[in-house]
Amino acid sequence: MTSESNIAVGIDLGTTYTAVAYIDDTGRPVTLVNAEGDLVTPSVVLFEGQHAVVGKEALKALSTEADHVAQCAKRELGERVFHKVLEGRQFPPEALEAFVLNKVRQDASRHIGDFRQVVITVPAYFDEVRRKATQDAGYMAGFDVLDIINEPTAAAIAHGFIKGYLNRDGASNELRRLLVYDLGGGTFDVTVMEINAHDFVALATDGDVQLGGQDWDMRLVDYVAEEFKKTYDLDPREEPNTAGRLWRECEDAKRTLSARGKVSISCDYKSQAMRVEITREKFEELTHDLLDRTKFTTKQTLQAAGLTWKDVDYVLLVGGSTRMPMVSRMLRELTGKDPDASVSVDEAVAHGAALHASIILARLRGESPVINVRNVNSHSLGVVASDPRTMRRRNAILIPRNTTLPVTAKRVFRTQKENQKSILVQIVEGESASPEDCSQIGKCVVRNLPAQLPAQTPIDVRFAYQDNGRLTVHVSVAGTSRELKHEIARDNSISQEQLDAWRLFITGHQLADAQLQADDDDTATIDEL
Ligand code: AMP
Repeated sequence: MTSESNIAVGIDLGTTYTAVAYIDDTGRPVTLVNAEGDLVTPSVVLFEGQHAVVGKEALKALSTEADHVAQCAKRELGERVFHKVLEGRQFPPEALEAFVLNKVRQDASRHIGDFRQVVITVPAYFDEVRRKATQDAGYMAGFDVLDIINEPTAAAIAHGFIKGYLNRDGASNELRRLLVYDLGGGTFDVTVMEINAHDFVALATDGDVQLGGQDWDMRLVDYVAEEFKKTYDLDPREEPNTAGRLWRECEDAKRTLSARGKVSISCDYKSQAMRVEITREKFEELTHDLLDRTKFTTKQTLQAAGLTWKDVDYVLLVGGSTRMPMVSRMLRELTGKDPDASVSVDEAVAHGAALHASIILARLRGESPVINVRNVNSHSLGVVASDPRTMRRRNAILIPRNTTLPVTAKRVFRTQKENQKSILVQIVEGESASPEDCSQIGKCVVRNLPAQLPAQTPIDVRFAYQDNGRLTVHVSVAGTSRELKHEIARDNSISQEQLDAWRLFITGHQLADAQLQADDDDTATIDEL
Protein backbone atom coordinates (compact mmCIF):
# COMPACT_ATOMS: atom_id res chain seq x y z
CA MET A 1 0.00 0.00 0.00
CA THR A 2 1.34 3.47 -0.76
CA SER A 3 0.38 6.88 0.40
CA GLU A 4 0.57 10.32 -1.14
CA SER A 5 1.47 11.77 2.24
CA ASN A 6 5.07 12.79 2.64
CA ILE A 7 5.06 13.21 6.39
CA ALA A 8 7.89 11.38 8.15
CA VAL A 9 6.57 9.54 11.19
CA GLY A 10 8.41 7.28 13.65
CA ILE A 11 6.85 5.04 16.27
CA ASP A 12 8.55 3.71 19.37
CA LEU A 13 6.34 0.69 20.09
CA GLY A 14 7.33 0.03 23.69
CA THR A 15 6.43 -2.89 25.93
CA THR A 16 4.74 -0.55 28.37
CA TYR A 17 4.45 2.79 26.51
CA THR A 18 4.30 3.86 22.88
CA ALA A 19 5.47 7.22 21.51
CA VAL A 20 4.97 8.79 18.09
CA ALA A 21 7.03 11.59 16.53
CA TYR A 22 7.05 13.37 13.20
CA ILE A 23 9.37 15.80 11.45
CA ASP A 24 7.93 19.29 11.42
CA ASP A 25 8.28 21.95 8.71
CA THR A 26 11.58 23.13 10.14
CA GLY A 27 13.04 19.61 9.99
CA ARG A 28 12.95 18.95 13.72
CA PRO A 29 11.46 15.85 15.37
CA VAL A 30 8.40 16.57 17.51
CA THR A 31 6.53 14.12 19.73
CA LEU A 32 2.80 14.00 19.00
CA VAL A 33 0.46 14.03 21.99
CA ASN A 34 -2.33 11.47 22.04
CA ALA A 35 -6.07 12.11 22.40
CA GLU A 36 -5.62 12.26 26.20
CA GLY A 37 -2.97 14.96 25.86
CA ASP A 38 -0.04 12.71 26.86
CA LEU A 39 3.31 12.26 25.12
CA VAL A 40 3.21 8.50 25.60
CA THR A 41 0.36 5.99 25.37
CA PRO A 42 0.29 2.90 27.60
CA SER A 43 0.63 -0.18 25.35
CA VAL A 44 -2.36 -1.76 27.05
CA VAL A 45 -5.62 -3.00 25.48
CA LEU A 46 -8.98 -3.45 27.23
CA PHE A 47 -11.65 -5.49 25.48
CA GLU A 48 -15.28 -4.59 25.97
CA GLY A 49 -17.07 -7.12 23.81
CA GLN A 50 -15.99 -6.40 20.22
CA HIS A 51 -14.71 -2.98 21.21
CA ALA A 52 -11.07 -2.35 22.12
CA VAL A 53 -9.99 0.53 24.37
CA VAL A 54 -6.28 1.34 24.26
CA GLY A 55 -4.06 3.40 26.55
CA LYS A 56 -4.64 5.10 29.87
CA GLU A 57 -8.18 3.80 30.42
CA ALA A 58 -7.11 0.25 29.63
CA LEU A 59 -4.28 0.61 32.13
CA LYS A 60 -6.72 1.80 34.78
CA ALA A 61 -8.98 -1.18 34.08
CA LEU A 62 -6.21 -3.49 35.33
CA SER A 63 -7.51 -2.76 38.83
CA THR A 64 -11.14 -3.62 38.04
CA GLU A 65 -11.36 -5.76 34.90
CA ALA A 66 -7.95 -7.43 34.74
CA ASP A 67 -9.37 -10.47 32.92
CA HIS A 68 -10.23 -8.27 29.94
CA VAL A 69 -6.90 -6.48 29.70
CA ALA A 70 -3.81 -7.34 27.63
CA GLN A 71 -0.47 -5.78 28.55
CA CYS A 72 3.17 -6.45 27.61
CA ALA A 73 2.18 -8.20 24.35
CA LYS A 74 5.57 -7.12 22.97
CA ARG A 75 7.23 -9.64 25.24
CA GLU A 76 5.27 -12.41 23.54
CA LEU A 77 5.86 -11.40 19.93
CA GLY A 78 6.94 -14.50 18.07
CA GLU A 79 4.60 -16.72 20.06
CA ARG A 80 1.61 -18.10 18.22
CA VAL A 81 -0.97 -16.66 20.60
CA PHE A 82 -0.99 -14.35 23.61
CA HIS A 83 -1.01 -16.27 26.92
CA LYS A 84 -4.35 -14.87 28.04
CA VAL A 85 -7.73 -15.65 26.46
CA LEU A 86 -9.65 -12.39 25.97
CA GLU A 87 -13.38 -12.31 25.26
CA GLY A 88 -13.19 -16.06 24.66
CA ARG A 89 -10.67 -15.56 21.91
CA GLN A 90 -6.96 -16.18 21.46
CA PHE A 91 -5.14 -13.25 19.90
CA PRO A 92 -1.72 -13.39 18.23
CA PRO A 93 0.50 -10.93 20.15
CA GLU A 94 1.05 -8.90 16.97
CA ALA A 95 -2.71 -8.29 16.71
CA LEU A 96 -2.68 -6.85 20.25
CA GLU A 97 0.27 -4.64 19.25
CA ALA A 98 -1.76 -3.60 16.20
CA PHE A 99 -4.59 -2.32 18.41
CA VAL A 100 -2.04 -0.06 20.13
CA LEU A 101 -0.63 1.11 16.79
CA ASN A 102 -4.10 1.75 15.44
CA LYS A 103 -4.92 3.99 18.40
CA VAL A 104 -1.73 6.04 18.03
CA ARG A 105 -2.32 6.28 14.27
CA GLN A 106 -5.79 7.71 14.81
CA ASP A 107 -4.56 10.12 17.49
CA ALA A 108 -1.62 11.32 15.42
CA SER A 109 -3.90 11.87 12.38
CA ARG A 110 -5.74 14.51 14.38
CA HIS A 111 -2.58 16.63 14.33
CA ILE A 112 -0.90 15.83 11.04
CA GLY A 113 -3.72 14.48 8.87
CA ASP A 114 -3.96 11.01 7.39
CA PHE A 115 -0.68 9.20 6.95
CA ARG A 116 0.32 5.62 6.24
CA GLN A 117 4.09 5.42 5.96
CA VAL A 118 5.98 4.88 9.20
CA VAL A 119 9.20 3.58 10.68
CA ILE A 120 8.67 1.37 13.73
CA THR A 121 11.43 0.57 16.20
CA VAL A 122 12.37 -2.75 17.78
CA PRO A 123 14.98 -3.71 20.39
CA ALA A 124 18.29 -4.45 18.66
CA TYR A 125 18.19 -7.84 20.32
CA PHE A 126 14.90 -8.80 18.60
CA ASP A 127 15.32 -11.83 16.39
CA GLU A 128 13.91 -12.22 12.89
CA VAL A 129 10.65 -13.72 14.12
CA ARG A 130 9.90 -10.78 16.40
CA ARG A 131 10.91 -8.25 13.73
CA LYS A 132 8.54 -9.82 11.25
CA ALA A 133 5.80 -9.89 13.88
CA THR A 134 6.34 -6.16 14.48
CA GLN A 135 6.13 -5.46 10.77
CA ASP A 136 2.92 -7.50 10.62
CA ALA A 137 1.50 -5.54 13.58
CA GLY A 138 2.14 -2.35 11.59
CA TYR A 139 0.35 -3.80 8.58
CA MET A 140 -2.62 -4.93 10.67
CA ALA A 141 -2.90 -1.40 12.05
CA GLY A 142 -3.26 0.00 8.53
CA PHE A 143 0.33 1.20 8.08
CA ASP A 144 2.75 0.92 5.23
CA VAL A 145 5.91 0.09 7.21
CA LEU A 146 8.85 1.81 5.53
CA ASP A 147 11.38 0.17 7.79
CA ILE A 148 11.95 -1.52 11.11
CA ILE A 149 14.88 0.11 12.90
CA ASN A 150 16.72 -0.81 16.07
CA GLU A 151 15.84 1.31 19.09
CA PRO A 152 19.47 2.13 20.06
CA THR A 153 20.24 3.12 16.48
CA ALA A 154 17.23 5.42 16.54
CA ALA A 155 18.37 6.89 19.85
CA ALA A 156 21.86 7.46 18.44
CA ILE A 157 20.38 9.24 15.40
CA ALA A 158 18.38 11.53 17.70
CA HIS A 159 21.53 12.16 19.74
CA GLY A 160 23.48 12.89 16.56
CA PHE A 161 20.81 15.34 15.53
CA ILE A 162 20.93 17.17 18.87
CA LYS A 163 24.73 17.21 18.85
CA GLY A 164 24.80 18.40 15.24
CA TYR A 165 25.97 15.28 13.38
CA LEU A 166 22.97 15.58 11.12
CA ASN A 167 23.64 19.17 10.27
CA ARG A 168 24.26 19.11 6.49
CA ASP A 169 26.75 21.93 6.64
CA GLY A 170 28.38 21.32 9.96
CA ALA A 171 28.96 17.57 10.10
CA SER A 172 32.17 16.96 11.98
CA ASN A 173 34.59 14.38 10.74
CA GLU A 174 35.60 13.56 14.24
CA LEU A 175 34.79 9.99 15.11
CA ARG A 176 32.50 9.51 18.12
CA ARG A 177 31.62 6.30 19.89
CA LEU A 178 28.46 5.85 21.89
CA LEU A 179 27.24 3.19 24.22
CA VAL A 180 23.45 3.20 24.22
CA TYR A 181 22.01 1.72 27.43
CA ASP A 182 18.29 1.25 26.89
CA LEU A 183 16.22 -0.02 29.80
CA GLY A 184 12.52 0.25 29.01
CA GLY A 185 9.44 -1.28 30.56
CA GLY A 186 9.96 -4.81 29.30
CA THR A 187 13.22 -5.08 27.43
CA PHE A 188 16.88 -4.22 27.89
CA ASP A 189 19.24 -3.41 25.04
CA VAL A 190 22.82 -2.27 24.90
CA THR A 191 24.57 -1.23 21.71
CA VAL A 192 27.96 0.25 20.92
CA MET A 193 27.79 2.63 17.96
CA GLU A 194 30.38 4.54 16.02
CA ILE A 195 29.39 7.84 14.44
CA ASN A 196 31.71 9.23 11.82
CA ALA A 197 30.33 12.28 10.07
CA HIS A 198 27.20 10.88 8.42
CA ASP A 199 27.88 7.21 9.10
CA PHE A 200 26.16 5.48 12.00
CA VAL A 201 27.68 2.05 12.46
CA ALA A 202 26.67 -0.44 15.15
CA LEU A 203 29.74 -2.30 16.38
CA ALA A 204 28.09 -4.72 18.78
CA THR A 205 24.75 -5.28 20.36
CA ASP A 206 23.25 -7.47 23.06
CA GLY A 207 20.30 -7.47 25.41
CA ASP A 208 17.51 -9.31 27.12
CA VAL A 209 13.94 -9.32 25.84
CA GLN A 210 12.70 -10.44 29.24
CA LEU A 211 14.20 -7.72 31.41
CA GLY A 212 12.76 -4.27 32.07
CA GLY A 213 11.01 -1.93 34.48
CA GLN A 214 8.22 -4.47 34.87
CA ASP A 215 10.65 -6.80 36.66
CA TRP A 216 11.56 -4.03 39.10
CA ASP A 217 7.83 -3.50 39.70
CA MET A 218 7.28 -7.19 40.41
CA ARG A 219 9.99 -7.19 43.09
CA LEU A 220 7.98 -4.51 44.92
CA VAL A 221 4.72 -6.41 44.35
CA ASP A 222 6.25 -9.58 45.81
CA TYR A 223 7.74 -7.71 48.77
CA VAL A 224 4.42 -6.05 49.68
CA ALA A 225 2.44 -9.27 49.09
CA GLU A 226 4.78 -11.24 51.37
CA GLU A 227 4.44 -8.60 54.12
CA PHE A 228 0.66 -8.80 53.70
CA LYS A 229 0.77 -12.59 53.93
CA LYS A 230 2.86 -12.46 57.10
CA THR A 231 0.27 -10.19 58.73
CA TYR A 232 -3.04 -11.61 57.44
CA ASP A 233 -2.15 -15.00 56.00
CA LEU A 234 -3.72 -13.86 52.71
CA ASP A 235 -1.99 -13.44 49.35
CA PRO A 236 -3.27 -10.39 47.42
CA ARG A 237 -1.63 -11.71 44.22
CA GLU A 238 -4.14 -14.57 43.95
CA GLU A 239 -7.02 -12.35 42.79
CA PRO A 240 -6.40 -10.69 39.39
CA ASN A 241 -8.00 -7.28 40.09
CA THR A 242 -6.25 -6.95 43.46
CA ALA A 243 -2.96 -8.01 41.83
CA GLY A 244 -3.53 -5.42 39.09
CA ARG A 245 -4.24 -2.69 41.64
CA LEU A 246 -1.17 -3.64 43.68
CA TRP A 247 1.01 -3.59 40.58
CA ARG A 248 -0.18 -0.07 39.71
CA GLU A 249 0.56 1.08 43.29
CA CYS A 250 4.03 -0.44 43.09
CA GLU A 251 4.82 1.03 39.68
CA ASP A 252 3.88 4.42 41.03
CA ALA A 253 5.95 3.86 44.17
CA LYS A 254 8.94 2.91 42.02
CA ARG A 255 8.70 6.27 40.22
CA THR A 256 8.48 8.05 43.58
CA LEU A 257 11.63 6.23 44.72
CA SER A 258 13.50 7.79 41.78
CA ALA A 259 12.86 11.20 43.36
CA ARG A 260 12.52 10.46 47.10
CA GLY A 261 14.21 8.32 49.72
CA LYS A 262 11.15 6.39 50.81
CA VAL A 263 7.54 5.66 49.93
CA SER A 264 4.60 3.87 51.45
CA ILE A 265 2.55 1.40 49.42
CA SER A 266 -1.03 0.55 50.34
CA CYS A 267 -2.58 -2.85 49.80
CA ASP A 268 -6.08 -4.06 50.62
CA TYR A 269 -7.61 -7.46 50.08
CA LYS A 270 -10.64 -9.25 51.51
CA SER A 271 -11.49 -6.38 53.90
CA GLN A 272 -7.94 -6.29 55.28
CA ALA A 273 -5.65 -3.34 54.58
CA MET A 274 -2.09 -2.35 55.33
CA ARG A 275 0.59 0.12 54.31
CA VAL A 276 4.11 -1.04 53.70
CA GLU A 277 6.94 1.48 53.88
CA ILE A 278 9.95 0.97 51.68
CA THR A 279 13.18 2.95 51.38
CA ARG A 280 15.20 3.46 48.23
CA GLU A 281 18.02 1.40 49.81
CA LYS A 282 15.64 -1.50 50.38
CA PHE A 283 14.31 -1.23 46.81
CA GLU A 284 17.87 -1.28 45.47
CA GLU A 285 18.69 -4.30 47.60
CA LEU A 286 15.59 -6.13 46.31
CA THR A 287 16.54 -5.49 42.68
CA HIS A 288 20.35 -5.48 42.63
CA ASP A 289 20.54 -8.79 40.74
CA LEU A 290 18.43 -7.29 37.91
CA LEU A 291 20.78 -4.31 37.67
CA ASP A 292 23.78 -6.67 37.76
CA ARG A 293 22.41 -8.51 34.74
CA THR A 294 22.40 -5.25 32.75
CA LYS A 295 25.93 -4.47 33.99
CA PHE A 296 27.22 -7.86 32.87
CA THR A 297 25.67 -7.47 29.41
CA THR A 298 27.04 -3.93 29.09
CA LYS A 299 30.58 -5.13 29.83
CA GLN A 300 30.25 -8.01 27.39
CA THR A 301 29.01 -5.77 24.60
CA LEU A 302 31.93 -3.38 24.99
CA GLN A 303 34.25 -6.38 24.77
CA ALA A 304 32.45 -7.68 21.67
CA ALA A 305 32.99 -4.26 20.05
CA GLY A 306 36.70 -4.64 20.79
CA LEU A 307 36.80 -1.41 22.80
CA THR A 308 37.69 -0.20 26.28
CA TRP A 309 35.85 2.50 28.22
CA LYS A 310 38.34 5.16 27.22
CA ASP A 311 37.32 4.63 23.57
CA VAL A 312 33.71 5.54 24.40
CA ASP A 313 32.73 9.22 24.18
CA TYR A 314 29.13 9.07 25.39
CA VAL A 315 27.11 6.69 27.50
CA LEU A 316 23.57 7.41 26.34
CA LEU A 317 20.57 6.74 28.58
CA VAL A 318 17.37 5.61 26.88
CA GLY A 319 14.10 4.21 28.29
CA GLY A 320 12.00 5.25 31.27
CA SER A 321 13.72 2.86 33.66
CA THR A 322 17.03 4.70 33.33
CA ARG A 323 15.44 7.33 35.58
CA MET A 324 16.16 5.05 38.53
CA PRO A 325 19.20 6.57 40.26
CA MET A 326 20.78 3.11 40.65
CA VAL A 327 21.23 2.95 36.84
CA SER A 328 23.27 6.16 36.46
CA ARG A 329 25.29 5.31 39.56
CA MET A 330 26.16 1.84 38.26
CA LEU A 331 27.10 3.19 34.82
CA ARG A 332 29.20 5.99 36.30
CA GLU A 333 31.12 3.45 38.39
CA LEU A 334 31.50 1.04 35.49
CA THR A 335 32.48 3.50 32.76
CA GLY A 336 34.03 6.40 34.65
CA LYS A 337 31.76 8.75 32.64
CA ASP A 338 28.67 10.76 33.39
CA PRO A 339 25.76 9.18 31.50
CA ASP A 340 24.33 11.50 28.85
CA ALA A 341 20.60 12.27 28.97
CA SER A 342 20.66 15.21 26.56
CA VAL A 343 17.87 13.57 24.53
CA SER A 344 14.69 12.87 26.54
CA VAL A 345 14.79 9.19 27.56
CA ASP A 346 11.13 8.75 26.60
CA GLU A 347 11.29 10.50 23.24
CA ALA A 348 14.77 9.75 21.86
CA VAL A 349 13.74 6.54 20.10
CA ALA A 350 10.59 7.94 18.46
CA HIS A 351 12.53 11.05 17.38
CA GLY A 352 15.29 8.92 15.83
CA ALA A 353 12.67 6.79 14.06
CA ALA A 354 11.01 9.90 12.60
CA LEU A 355 14.40 11.19 11.42
CA HIS A 356 15.06 7.81 9.84
CA ALA A 357 11.66 7.95 8.12
CA SER A 358 12.51 11.36 6.69
CA ILE A 359 15.80 9.98 5.34
CA ILE A 360 13.98 7.10 3.64
CA LEU A 361 11.37 9.43 2.15
CA ALA A 362 14.14 11.72 0.90
CA ARG A 363 15.82 8.74 -0.74
CA LEU A 364 12.52 7.73 -2.33
CA ARG A 365 12.29 11.24 -3.76
CA GLY A 366 15.77 10.75 -5.23
CA GLU A 367 17.61 13.02 -2.79
CA SER A 368 20.96 11.89 -1.42
CA PRO A 369 20.90 10.40 2.07
CA VAL A 370 21.93 12.68 4.90
CA ILE A 371 23.15 9.80 7.01
CA ASN A 372 24.03 6.17 6.47
CA VAL A 373 23.07 3.62 9.06
CA ARG A 374 24.77 0.28 9.38
CA ASN A 375 23.65 -2.33 11.88
CA VAL A 376 25.01 -5.62 13.10
CA ASN A 377 23.01 -8.81 13.50
CA SER A 378 22.30 -9.63 17.11
CA HIS A 379 22.13 -13.42 16.69
CA SER A 380 24.00 -15.89 14.51
CA LEU A 381 22.11 -17.31 11.55
CA GLY A 382 22.60 -20.77 10.22
CA VAL A 383 20.90 -23.83 8.81
CA VAL A 384 20.30 -27.27 10.28
CA ALA A 385 22.68 -29.79 8.77
CA SER A 386 23.90 -33.28 9.64
CA ASP A 387 27.51 -33.70 10.56
CA PRO A 388 28.86 -36.34 8.09
CA ARG A 389 31.03 -37.95 10.77
CA THR A 390 28.57 -38.24 13.62
CA MET A 391 25.30 -37.88 11.63
CA ARG A 392 24.13 -35.57 14.40
CA ARG A 393 22.07 -32.56 13.47
CA ARG A 394 23.76 -29.29 14.19
CA ASN A 395 23.54 -25.56 13.61
CA ALA A 396 25.85 -24.71 10.68
CA ILE A 397 26.36 -20.96 11.05
CA LEU A 398 26.50 -18.83 7.90
CA ILE A 399 26.46 -15.38 9.51
CA PRO A 400 28.02 -15.05 12.99
CA ARG A 401 26.51 -12.55 15.42
CA ASN A 402 27.74 -8.94 15.42
CA THR A 403 28.49 -9.04 11.66
CA THR A 404 28.01 -5.64 10.02
CA LEU A 405 24.94 -5.57 7.76
CA PRO A 406 24.05 -5.83 4.97
CA VAL A 407 25.95 -9.04 4.37
CA THR A 408 25.75 -12.03 2.07
CA ALA A 409 27.21 -15.36 3.05
CA LYS A 410 27.47 -18.71 1.30
CA ARG A 411 28.06 -22.24 2.48
CA VAL A 412 28.04 -25.45 0.50
CA PHE A 413 26.21 -28.52 1.76
CA ARG A 414 25.45 -31.86 0.11
CA THR A 415 22.44 -34.04 -0.46
CA GLN A 416 22.20 -36.87 1.99
CA LYS A 417 21.18 -39.81 -0.16
CA GLU A 418 20.93 -40.95 -3.75
CA ASN A 419 17.77 -40.02 -5.64
CA GLN A 420 16.83 -37.46 -3.01
CA LYS A 421 13.56 -35.85 -4.09
CA SER A 422 13.57 -32.66 -2.06
CA ILE A 423 15.75 -30.57 0.19
CA LEU A 424 14.53 -28.93 3.34
CA VAL A 425 16.53 -25.91 4.42
CA GLN A 426 15.70 -25.08 8.02
CA ILE A 427 16.94 -21.66 9.12
CA VAL A 428 17.86 -21.21 12.75
CA GLU A 429 18.97 -18.27 14.83
CA GLY A 430 21.17 -18.67 17.90
CA GLU A 431 24.64 -19.43 19.14
CA SER A 432 24.22 -23.04 20.21
CA ALA A 433 25.56 -25.90 18.07
CA SER A 434 22.40 -27.78 18.85
CA PRO A 435 19.42 -26.73 16.66
CA GLU A 436 17.01 -27.55 19.50
CA ASP A 437 18.47 -24.69 21.55
CA CYS A 438 18.11 -22.16 18.71
CA SER A 439 14.98 -20.44 17.43
CA GLN A 440 13.54 -21.95 14.31
CA ILE A 441 12.92 -18.96 12.14
CA GLY A 442 11.75 -20.50 8.90
CA LYS A 443 12.24 -23.13 6.31
CA CYS A 444 12.15 -23.55 2.59
CA VAL A 445 11.91 -26.64 0.45
CA VAL A 446 13.43 -27.33 -2.96
CA ARG A 447 11.13 -29.89 -4.54
CA ASN A 448 11.11 -32.05 -7.68
CA LEU A 449 14.84 -32.70 -7.85
CA PRO A 450 15.84 -34.57 -11.03
CA ALA A 451 15.65 -38.36 -10.77
CA GLN A 452 18.82 -40.29 -9.94
CA LEU A 453 20.55 -37.28 -8.41
CA PRO A 454 23.70 -38.76 -6.84
CA ALA A 455 24.22 -38.62 -3.10
CA GLN A 456 26.59 -35.83 -2.00
CA THR A 457 25.46 -33.45 -4.77
CA PRO A 458 26.56 -29.95 -3.74
CA ILE A 459 23.87 -27.54 -2.56
CA ASP A 460 24.73 -23.83 -2.41
CA VAL A 461 22.97 -22.01 0.40
CA ARG A 462 23.30 -18.23 0.35
CA PHE A 463 21.95 -15.81 2.89
CA ALA A 464 21.38 -12.16 2.03
CA TYR A 465 20.78 -10.31 5.25
CA GLN A 466 19.58 -6.73 4.92
CA ASP A 467 20.35 -3.94 7.35
CA ASN A 468 16.76 -3.97 8.63
CA GLY A 469 17.26 -7.56 9.78
CA ARG A 470 15.28 -9.23 6.99
CA LEU A 471 16.72 -12.36 5.46
CA THR A 472 16.50 -13.78 1.94
CA VAL A 473 17.66 -17.33 1.34
CA HIS A 474 18.88 -18.62 -2.05
CA VAL A 475 19.32 -22.33 -2.58
CA SER A 476 20.73 -23.88 -5.73
CA VAL A 477 21.55 -27.49 -6.49
CA ALA A 478 24.69 -28.12 -8.56
CA GLY A 479 24.21 -29.55 -12.03
CA THR A 480 20.45 -28.94 -12.00
CA SER A 481 18.23 -26.04 -12.84
CA ARG A 482 16.64 -26.29 -9.40
CA GLU A 483 16.94 -23.00 -7.63
CA LEU A 484 14.93 -21.26 -4.95
CA LYS A 485 14.80 -17.71 -3.71
CA HIS A 486 12.87 -17.28 -0.55
CA GLU A 487 12.26 -14.42 1.84
CA ILE A 488 12.01 -16.34 5.03
CA ALA A 489 8.57 -16.87 6.44
CA ARG A 490 8.42 -17.80 10.06
CA ASP A 491 6.93 -21.07 11.13
CA ASN A 492 3.26 -20.81 12.08
CA SER A 493 3.22 -17.46 10.34
CA ILE A 494 0.01 -15.60 9.70
CA SER A 495 -1.00 -15.83 6.05
CA GLN A 496 -1.61 -12.74 3.91
CA GLU A 497 -5.36 -13.43 4.03
CA GLN A 498 -5.28 -13.55 7.81
CA LEU A 499 -3.20 -10.37 7.95
CA ASP A 500 -5.75 -8.66 5.74
CA ALA A 501 -8.60 -9.95 7.89
CA TRP A 502 -6.94 -8.56 11.01
CA ARG A 503 -6.24 -5.28 9.24
CA LEU A 504 -9.90 -4.91 8.41
CA PHE A 505 -10.94 -5.96 11.89
CA ILE A 506 -8.52 -3.69 13.76
CA THR A 507 -8.88 -0.63 11.61
CA GLY A 508 -12.61 -1.08 12.05
CA HIS A 509 -13.74 -1.35 8.44
CA GLN A 510 -15.35 -4.71 8.80
CA LEU A 511 -15.65 -7.45 11.40
CA ALA A 512 -13.84 -10.54 10.30
CA ASP A 513 -12.57 -13.60 12.00
CA ALA A 514 -8.91 -14.33 11.56
CA GLN A 515 -7.96 -17.88 12.33
CA LEU A 516 -4.47 -19.16 12.80
CA GLN A 517 -3.19 -22.23 11.10
CA ALA A 518 0.12 -24.02 11.00
CA ASP A 519 1.68 -25.24 7.78
CA ASP A 520 3.28 -28.60 7.25
CA ASP A 521 6.05 -29.42 4.84
CA ASP A 522 7.86 -32.54 3.62
CA THR A 523 11.18 -33.04 5.24
CA ALA A 524 14.48 -34.22 3.93
CA THR A 525 17.75 -33.39 5.60
CA ILE A 526 20.72 -31.90 3.83
CA ASP A 527 24.14 -33.19 4.59
CA GLU A 528 27.04 -30.90 5.35
CA LEU A 529 30.10 -30.79 3.12
P1 AMP B 1 9.68 2.89 28.22
O1 AMP B 1 9.33 1.51 27.73
O2 AMP B 1 10.99 3.38 27.78
O3 AMP B 1 8.57 3.87 28.05
O4 AMP B 1 9.86 2.73 29.82
C1 AMP B 1 8.79 2.54 30.65
C2 AMP B 1 9.32 2.06 31.97
O5 AMP B 1 9.98 3.13 32.62
C3 AMP B 1 8.21 1.58 32.88
O6 AMP B 1 8.59 0.36 33.50
C4 AMP B 1 8.13 2.70 33.88
O7 AMP B 1 7.69 2.23 35.15
C5 AMP B 1 9.57 3.17 33.96
N1 AMP B 1 9.69 4.53 34.47
C6 AMP B 1 9.17 5.67 33.96
N2 AMP B 1 9.47 6.72 34.74
C7 AMP B 1 10.19 6.24 35.79
C8 AMP B 1 10.80 6.83 36.95
N3 AMP B 1 10.69 8.13 37.19
N4 AMP B 1 11.47 6.01 37.78
C9 AMP B 1 11.57 4.68 37.55
N5 AMP B 1 11.03 4.07 36.48
C10 AMP B 1 10.35 4.84 35.61
